[in-house]
Amino acid sequence: MFYIGSHISSSKGYEAMGKQALKLGANTFAFFTRNPRGGKAKEMIQEDVDKFLRLAEEHSFGKLVAHAPYTMNICAAKEDIRKFAKEMFMDDLVRMEYTPGNYYNFHPGSHVGQGSEAGIAMIGQVLNEVLREDMTTTVLLETMAGKGSEVGRNFEELRAILDLVSLKEKVGVCLDTCHVWDGGYDIVENLDGVLEEFDQVIGLENLKAVHLNDSMNPLGSHKDRHEKVGEGQIGKEVMTRIINHPSLNGLPFILETPNDDAGWAAEIAMLKEMHRD
Ligand code: FE
Ligand code: FE
Ligand code: ZN
Repeated sequence: MFYIGSHISSSKGYEAMGKQALKLGANTFAFFTRNPRGGKAKEMIQEDVDKFLRLAEEHSFGKLVAHAPYTMNICAAKEDIRKFAKEMFMDDLVRMEYTPGNYYNFHPGSHVGQGSEAGIAMIGQVLNEVLREDMTTTVLLETMAGKGSEVGRNFEELRAILDLVSLKEKVGVCLDTCHVWDGGYDIVENLDGVLEEFDQVIGLENLKAVHLNDSMNPLGSHKDRHEKVGEGQIGKEVMTRIINHPSLNGLPFILETPNDDAGWAAEIAMLKEMHRD
C-alpha cells in the first residue's frame, strides 16, 4: 500500500481534516496538534473524532503523522520553558489517544548553547517522564537539518536519544528528506548507502514515517528550506527512487512542501503516478 498525504490545517477539526485529505487524493496526512507556535489546544469533540474515525476506516487511511508545535523544546536551557514543553507534550499525548495507534512527530529540540550531549540527556529524561506503557501512540523523533543548535542533526544523535528511552516500543524516527540532505546525507548520489547507514546506526525497524520534501539548498547546507517535489536540489528522479525504495515500503509519506491545495493535489497525483505497485 502506498500512503501519501500532505500537511492539513487542523483548525476545523478532525472530520474536516479527513474530508480535506480525500479532496487532495491523500490516504494519510499530518496536522499540528495545536497552533504551530504553541498555545492552548482546541477542545477535543468526541463526535467529530468518531466521524473522522469512520471516514478513515472507510477509505483505508494509513497512520496519521501528527506534528508537535515547533516551539515545543524539551531541552531548552530555561527550566520554565522546558516544563511548559513537557506539559504540552503530555497534553498532546492524551489528545492523540482519541485517534488510537497513530504517530506523534516532534523536533527533538534545540540545546541553545548547552551542547548536544546535555540536550540529548534532557530529551531522554523528558521522554521517560511522558511516555506511558498504556498509550497506543508512537512518538517519532524527526531527523533535523542541523540549523542553529538543533539536536538530531545526525543519526548518531537520534540513536543516543533512543538509547536513553525505557519504553523503546513507544518511540521511532521520522526521516525528513530535506533535513537529511541539508544535514549532509547524500541521498542523491547514494540513497542506498544513506539508508544502510540509517539501518546500522538507528535500525530501519525504527523508521516509521517519511517527510517527503525537496530542498532549496545544497547538500550539507543546514538551512531547512523545503521545496516542492522535483523542483529543488534533490529532484524528481531521486524522489521517485525514495517512494519506491524497498526499505521504505509501506511507510506514510508526508509532504511539507510550499504548496496551496491545488499544488498538493497535483503533487499527490504525480507521486501516485510515480509509485510502482
Ligand atoms: Fe518537522
Ligand atoms: Fe519535517
Ligand atoms: Zn523542515
